[in-house]
Amino acid sequence: MEGLPVVLGSSATGILVSLALSRAGVEHILIGTDDPPAPVPRLGESIIDTSSPELWRLYGHEFADGFHYKNHIAYLNGNFSALCHLASPLRTQKRISKFAHPDGRKTRYPWFGEALFHLDRIKFDRAAYLKARAQKECHFVVARVTRVEFDAATDRVTRLELDKGAAIERPRYVFDSTGFASPISKAANVKMSPLSVPQRVVWTHYRRDDLEANPPEWWRGGTNLMRLDREFDGIDAMSWLIPLGATLSVGLSVDQSSERSNDSDEDLMERLASAWRRRGVDYVSVFPQQQPIQQLRHSYFVRDRAYGGNWLLVGPTFITIWFPGSTGLWTVCAAAGMAHRLIENPELGKFYEKSMRQLTHFHRLLDHVAHGPIWKSSWQVYHFFGKGGSLIWSRIADYFRIRDDDYGWFRPSSWLLNSLELVGRKFPPFMVMFFVFALVRNRLDVHRERQGLPFPLYNRSIPFRLWNAIRWLPDFLWGLLPRRRRAATLTSG
Ligand SMILES: Cc1cc2nc3c(=O)[nH]c(=O)nc-3n(C[C@H](O)[C@H](O)[C@H](O)COP(=O)(O)OP(=O)(O)OC[C@H]3O[C@@H](n4cnc5c(N)ncnc54)[C@H](O)[C@@H]3O)c2cc1C
Repeated sequence: MEGLPVVLGSSATGILVSLALSRAGVEHILIGTDDPPAPVPRLGESIIDTSSPELWRLYGHEFADGFHYKNHIAYLNGNFSALCHLASPLRTQKRISKFAHPDGRKTRYPWFGEALFHLDRIKFDRAAYLKARAQKECHFVVARVTRVEFDAATDRVTRLELDKGAAIERPRYVFDSTGFASPISKAANVKMSPLSVPQRVVWTHYRRDDLEANPPEWWRGGTNLMRLDREFDGIDAMSWLIPLGATLSVGLSVDQSSERSNDSDEDLMERLASAWRRRGVDYVSVFPQQQPIQQLRHSYFVRDRAYGGNWLLVGPTFITIWFPGSTGLWTVCAAAGMAHRLIENPELGKFYEKSMRQLTHFHRLLDHVAHGPIWKSSWQVYHFFGKGGSLIWSRIADYFRIRDDDYGWFRPSSWLLNSLELVGRKFPPFMVMFFVFALVRNRLDVHRERQGLPFPLYNRSIPFRLWNAIRWLPDFLWGLLPRRRRAATLTSG
């Protein structure tokens, strides 16, 4: 098997690269574990404007039961409940199936969120693992890499030693999909820069087997993010609530330096349930069956380089940014989409590296939400959504290039999308041009227990957006004054 491309790691990252190589007819070696990914609650269930259409296009037809509608992104921060409406909750199967042909062919981009989903990683990772192993182009080797020989002069990996005494000589190309461990980074002496302070994450799933299909609660329709604050919750942390049909994924991330970070898993999950309950979202009463709690200590980081003479650091092996960005699987899909071209032309790694490094802008924005002051004015809400929204353009531009296999200089659509991103990032109010005011419903809930209250017209996306367009200015002005001043006024009134 000398001279073949090699994929290291058989979790989702390596599996998606292996499947992409098989699709392109490229014979390769996949090094991993003999067991499929364990059926425990996994991270990476919310997917975005690039990873979601791509995964749906390629796997939606075959693994449809792993995909669940994602209609919104909501942020609860301070007294604000801001809901960005992305897609119609009532979109039909017929409409979404247009974006997932049995042959995975290219389709038009689903601009109206038709192909926005949450991904059931327990189902998807297992199905994808079994599929990858079954491909004739994939030589699966059950092993771990223990040593890498590297030629610094040519910047190439020359030999991979495996734990069972075997070795792979002169691999043609190596896709390192091992995440933080990254034996290739170590061999190539690639440095890692932390992007923010170390985190402890605890998370689990809650289930209810007999749940009705059409949820009455708005928070069961999309990705919900919440900033916990010390004054109100006794802890500073970021949390998520991601519905996957009869399952609800719930988690919290806290600075490892915080005095609460060494609390037990159970205490942190209980504190989290109570924080959501105090905001009117009592998920335990809807999903009573708690699954085993998982935990992780980690840091967000980016490495100095993503590629070399015959290697690539795939997705989270190169960069991992704040989870509310939900970008993990995008970094993987981008590498998988480029995989067969990188083998022929390793210099294309430059495009990959540049594209992924752009995510640090998003990370900084999210880090400010996690560590900065809680939102006290509607200005902060719209500033966040305006700036976050502008970052979508360049992501989509890069996605189109990868999907179309076009890395040439003449690409007017990329120029346009990248220019929109630049202007929106420097001057977020510019995003008004793109109807952010109609997409975002920004509610100032003076009493936080009202934050879980319904958003009228949620299920009717066009009337909902029209109503937002009418309401946004009064809501914006009402929330503009810093919250504390108005609270004092309200109390004295
Ligand atoms: C809190 C949090 C929330 C997240 N939320 C999202 C989200 O909503 N959306 C999203 O897209 N992403 C999200 N992510 C990122 C997401 O979890 C990952 O991008 C995604 O799960 C892919 O990781 P993985 O399972 O492939 O990697 P890992 O679990 O890191 O897999 C690495 C693999 O490499 C193998 N390995 C290690 N060393 C060796 C070796 N020497 N030889 C061979 N194999 C080896 C391991 O056994 C393992 O199988 C989140 C991340 C965090 C931390």
